[in-house]
Formats: sequence, structure tokens, C-alpha cells
Amino acid sequence: MGTPPSSNKIYQCAIVGGGLGGLCLAIQLAQEGVEVILFEKNSYPQHKVCGEYISMESWDFLIGLGVPLDDLHLPKITQLGISAENGFMLNSPLPLGGFGISRHSLDHLLCQMARTKGVVVLENCKVLDVQNIEENRSEITTAQGTYQAQIVCGSFGKYTPNFAKPPVETPTKRPNYIGVKYHIQTDLAPNRIELHNFKDGYCGISKVDNERYCLCYLSKASNLQQSGNDIKAMEHTILCENPFLKKYLTQSTFLFEKPLAISNIYFYPKGTSINGMLMVGDAAGAITPVCGNGMSMAMRASKLLAELLLLYFQGKCTQEALKSQYSRAWASAFNRRIQAGQYIQHLLGKKTSTHLALKTLHYFPALTQKLIGLTHGRAF
Ligand SMILES: Cc1cc2nc3c(=O)[nH]c(=O)nc-3n(C[C@H](O)[C@H](O)[C@H](O)COP(=O)(O)OP(=O)(O)OC[C@H]3O[C@@H](n4cnc5c(N)ncnc54)[C@H](O)[C@@H]3O)c2cc1C
Repeated sequence: MGTPPSSNKIYQCAIVGGGLGGLCLAIQLAQEGVEVILFEKNSYPQHKVCGEYISMESWDFLIGLGVPLDDLHLPKITQLGISAENGFMLNSPLPLGGFGISRHSLDHLLCQMARTKGVVVLENCKVLDVQNIEENRSEITTAQGTYQAQIVCGSFGKYTPNFAKPPVETPTKRPNYIGVKYHIQTDLAPNRIELHNFKDGYCGISKVDNERYCLCYLSKASNLQQSGNDIKAMEHTILCENPFLKKYLTQSTFLFEKPLAISNIYFYPKGTSINGMLMVGDAAGAITPVCGNGMSMAMRASKLLAELLLLYFQGKCTQEALKSQYSRAWASAFNRRIQAGQYIQHLLGKKTSTHLALKTLHYFPALTQKLIGLTHGRAF
């Protein structure tokens, strides 16, 4: 079990944010004997806005970390359905496929695993500032005191805190999205994920653990503004234009008291090293969920970074070499996926182009398989 936190100690690695990227990184380092402290601003278990479909590429990796996926009887997802707003549905097998597990369960399991391996996990502990004091020593100011570490990794997700913002940000016009999620009970084959398009957005539905389905959508923020900032009104007037979504939204049992919603979501690469910190997961760049498999990307990035950090802690590479090698490894692993994500995102969410794209893919199943292949990586 983790030892009590100490503000006098210099930990080898401090990790800011205990989502998938941060927890997986912490476990890999701790199991090789690295002293790790991880700060999470919330507590476990906690629901998160996420579609909760994980590409199969991460299955072996999670098992390797000690997550008992085989015992959890999770739904394996092998079939995909994508609908256009006018009711046309493209059906396709998913070559690699995925599985469903709620973030409520997965993040909690990973946190327990991290503690078992000796990581000091501080919950309800928001990081307020990180200052690089000297080579190999940074000071981390948190809601529960100040800590020190040789290396600090940022895995704080899609919202970049002020202390991790680049000194000068280039202002660019990017679409602003909102995300909404529910757990529901509904009528959908457990091995199927469906993606339903609506104006300026799309909604995914697939099974997770505990006999539940996750219904999660991403929409341009303008849809909500046009609906008087009322989620139910937006669902009624905009999402329900798609007949499949109308069925799910009106004929399912909703298990949350109210929707879980987040706003101000932007998708763009941010960089693997900012202000002396090494970034993992969405902190390095969030990818559009339509195809991005952001969770698998966060886990894969944690593996790339853990391998390089171990070389650094063994004295086999300098900090500069660590940063540049990680940056190259990240680009080579993810740049193609990010481009594919942007391309597919352009096709979807618009009435005419979505319908045309789905109709075309319907007649060219090999092309459909190719596009799906671009969004899933190989097992790691
Ligand atoms: C609508 C939507 C649907 C999605 N659906 C899918 C899907 O079906 N499949 C998929 O693979 N991906 C999906 N994604 C993407 C996926 O959720 C992310 O890519 C993934 O969660 C990234 O993991 P992470 O560890 O980088 O960040 P997170 O999981 O977001 O973790 C970041 C953690 O840092 C903590 N934190 C933040 N700031 C601080 C601070 N200052 N101090 C301490 N802690 C802090 C947060 O509380 C959080 O726990 C979806 C994303 C969205 C928006």
C-alpha cells in the first residue's frame, strides 16, 4: 500500500491528474520501483463524461497493469452502426472492436491498483501551481500543501490549468463543444455500438458494465445556446430529429437524476512538454471522440512515456533527450490518427455530407473497414 505523503521528500515523479493517462503512468513507474506521488482534484469513484467504449488495442495493456478485465464480464463490442439524421443506417463489423466499461469502475480500479503498487495517491487534492526550482527539482503547490519532485507529468485532461499554459498562446478560431452523458437501460444488442448524427453533433450508445448502457453525445455549443441553454429542450428539438435518437431518448430508462455535462471542449494538439512538464493523455492534445479512442491514446502515451522515464531515472538519458524522444514517439504514434479524426469529423454532423458519406461507404465496405482501421491502433 502507498506510504503517507511527505512534503519534505523529493519524489522521483509527480503526476498531476488521476484519469487514465495519469493512473496508468503511475502504475507502470511504481512497479519498476520509482517513487510516485499522484494528485487528483476529485475523489474515486466518479462518473465522467466519456463514451466508455475502449478499443481492444488496450485490453492486454490493462491486464498487464493488473486490472482483472477477464473477471468483470464486460461487453465485447464487434458491430458498428452509424446513422444519418434522415434515418439511414450504415452497418459494419468492427475489425478490432472494443469493450465497454464505465469510467466510474475503471478509474477506481486503476486507483486501487496504483495504491497497491505503492503510489501515493492524494484525492481531493487540486494542483494549483508547479514551479521548476532547479534542474531535477520542481515544487508542486496543492490544496493539501506543497510537495517536491524531480519530474512532473501533466495528465490533467482536456482543461489546461494556468500553470501549464504556454507563455503565449496563438489565438485561433476553434469550434467549441459540449459533452453530455447518461447511463441508461435500453434495447440494443450488447455487442453493438451505435453512432447517431444530428445537426453539429453525434451521439454514441454502447453497453458498459453493470447491465447499463452509456449514452454520450458531443454537440457544438451553439446548439445549446439556440435552445436557451436547456439540455432537454436541445435534445427534444435537435437530437430527436434523428429517428434512432428519438427512440433512445424517449424509450429508455435513465439512471442518472440529471445529465452529466461539460462545456468548453476543444480538440487540438497542445504539445508533449510545456513549462518543464511532460504531458500525457488529453493534456498533450485531445482528439475528437468520434473516432479518436482518446482513452487508448492516453494509455498508449503513458506506456511510451513510462518507458522513457525509466531510462531517465536509470541515468541512461538526459532530461532534454527524454523530452525530444517522447515528442517524436508521440507524433509517430498519434499524428495519423489525429488527421483521420479531423477528416471523419468533417464528414459527420452535417445533414447532407453525412448522408452522402454513409451511403457511399455502404457500397464500399472495404473503404469503411479502412477508415475504421485508421481510428484504432494495434495492440500494445
Ligand atoms: C463527449 C466525449 C466522449 C468520449 N468518448 C470516448 C470513448 O467512447 N472512447 C474513448 O476512448 N475516448 C472517449 N473520449 C475521450 C476520453 O474521455 C479522453 O481522451 C480520456 O479520458 C483522456 O484521459 P486523460 O487521463 O488524459 O484525462 P481525464 O480522464 O480527463 O483525467 C484527467 C484528470 O485530471 C484531474 N485534474 C484536472 N486538473 C487537475 C488539477 N489541477 N489537479 C489535480 N487533478 C486535476 C481531473 O479531475 C481528471 O480526473 C471522449 C471524450 C468526450 C469529451
